[in-house]
Amino acid sequence: MAYAYDDTNIFARILRGEIPNKTVLETEHTLAFHDIGPQAPVHVLVIPKGRYVNFDHFASEATAEELADFTRVAGEVCRITGVGPGNGGAGYRTISNAGTDGVQEVPHYHLHILGGRVLGRMLAKMG
Ligand code: AMP
Repeated sequence: MAYAYDDTNIFARILRGEIPNKTVLETEHTLAFHDIGPQAPVHVLVIPKGRYVNFDHFASEATAEELADFTRVAGEVCRITGVGPGNGGAGYRTISNAGTDGVQEVPHYHLHILGGRVLGRMLAKMG
């Protein structure tokens, strides 16, 4: 099924400069900014500038350049924010929610990068 992108979503508005954001890093294809409701001392969102709804949409339709740029920016955010173990940080978690079961609130693909505290188990156990 093809994805329909909603141009009124809040991240589309950020990308059009209609509402402000606290930018961590910006490149030609990607923007990283602080989450407005942080759930950890480090909580950064990485988004492509292209019109992609979620991870699988981005993974299947983005150009090689967009894919590479996004991944590089996400890695650079880990370094800049000090959470990357390769740079002496204590670690982090990346999360990408999609659809109803994933409880995605904003329908523009985004990767959460969380760190700065022990984050606990990945998910509650089933049952
Ligand atoms: P998700 O549930 O994965 O779609 O996450 C959406 C995230 O976007 C939440 O963590 C929100 O706190 C965050 N968010 C919503 N509006 C803004 C905004 N204007 N600037 C930064 N983060 C936002």
